[in-house]
Amino acid sequence: MPRTYDAIIVGARCAGSPTAMLLARKGYDVLVVDQASFPSDTISTHLIHPPGVALLQSWGLLDRVVATGCPAIGTYTFDFGPFALKGTPGPAASPVSYAPRRTVLDAILVNAAAEAGAEVREEFTVEEVLVEDGRVVGIRGHGRDGGSVTERARVVVGADGRHSLVAKTVRPERYHEKPPLEVSYYSYWSGLPMDGGFEAYDLGDRAFAAWPTNDDLTLVICGRPIAEFDAVRKDIEGDYLRTVDGAPRFRDRIRAAKREDRFYGTSVPNYFHTPAGPGWALVGDAGYNKDFITAQGISDAFKDAERCVTALDESFTGHRPFEEAMAAYRSARDAHALPIFEFTCQFAMLQPPPPQLQQVLGAARGNQDAMDGFARIFSGVVSPADYFSEENVGRIFAAAAE
Ligand SMILES: Cc1cc2nc3c(=O)[nH]c(=O)nc-3n(C[C@H](O)[C@H](O)[C@H](O)COP(=O)(O)OP(=O)(O)OC[C@H]3O[C@@H](n4cnc5c(N)ncnc54)[C@H](O)[C@@H]3O)c2cc1C
Repeated sequence: MPRTYDAIIVGARCAGSPTAMLLARKGYDVLVVDQASFPSDTISTHLIHPPGVALLQSWGLLDRVVATGCPAIGTYTFDFGPFALKGTPGPAASPVSYAPRRTVLDAILVNAAAEAGAEVREEFTVEEVLVEDGRVVGIRGHGRDGGSVTERARVVVGADGRHSLVAKTVRPERYHEKPPLEVSYYSYWSGLPMDGGFEAYDLGDRAFAAWPTNDDLTLVICGRPIAEFDAVRKDIEGDYLRTVDGAPRFRDRIRAAKREDRFYGTSVPNYFHTPAGPGWALVGDAGYNKDFITAQGISDAFKDAERCVTALDESFTGHRPFEEAMAAYRSARDAHALPIFEFTCQFAMLQPPPPQLQQVLGAARGNQDAMDGFARIFSGVVSPADYFSEENVGRIFAAAAE
């Protein structure tokens, strides 16, 4: 009989490797493939908020990230021009963020999957997702030698990112869809110390943010509304420098620094996909994507891995039918993601905050609880719905009036 894996995972970065690792740790027979080899970079900045850091910790991988010399980030500052809000991104149990380079992070995740017992095939490209009688049953692809290989599994998990072949094959329902809203370019700078802080600057029709990463480098990313896409692409460096010039104190710091890399950039669509069906599941960007302005993607990919593996385990062990377990995965994902998705899409339009929001943010100034709360919306710890509830906004205004 040909071998049938419990699961084949297509894609081995933030969503795929943790999914493979967690399944393998439960004793399942797992194959994870990626067309890339590791370590390797990908177009993505890499701020991991405290909820993502807490998952790395619970998986026993945070020490490996810290050992690469990647600095902790303990404060988030949002500069709105006339005033700034400075808060802490996480609670006492998980107070800091990290921003390891993807060369560093993804290699740690792939190695952890292999150590857990998953079979990892790098430089393996999936060309076809095999479907029989309406059910996904495996993959066909090729490795380094180019020979065609077919593998079968009880479930194929698409962790293959925004251009997911698994999603293209199974055609999941797509909902809450929004087009790309902004375009951003980023690069890495030396001689730009951040003192363990993330800083974001809202300049009305543009925004930028900076935070520290490995090798004493600082990542600076500048964003513009999508309508400016063509103009930005014609003069990436000029537009980037004009954007940081909008914040005079930061301008002086970056002018004294040295750019160490080229510019990387893109824009992305916003959508949810139904994350499972007969013989298939989706995790990470393949299942749900949103603008990167609030840097949720890596932490969300980690959460998907946890939730999807819980559901697959329930189904494999016969505790719950596959459809029911996967429906629970979908509703937990969507309940968590939808409020921050809407907040992110609003933010990514890069328009001045509406007057009501400006009043709330102005009132939060100097109120440490309120500033921590705002930082924690961004870090995915506090739901925007809770922060902007009548009750909480009332508290913020009452404190400001004292
Ligand atoms: C500009 C930008 C900035 C971002 N900044 C942040 C940030 O600061 N913080 C944050 O949390 N998130 C950020 N994100 C989002 C983050 O990059 C993604 O959410 C995250 O990478 C999703 O991980 P994933 O594993 O789902 O997909 P990916 O990281 O895209 O990995 C998919 C993998 O699948 C493999 N693959 C695809 N097709 C095949 C195939 N046919 N065969 C074999 N392998 C295949 C690819 O080679 C790839 O390695 C940013 C994104 C962008 C674009």
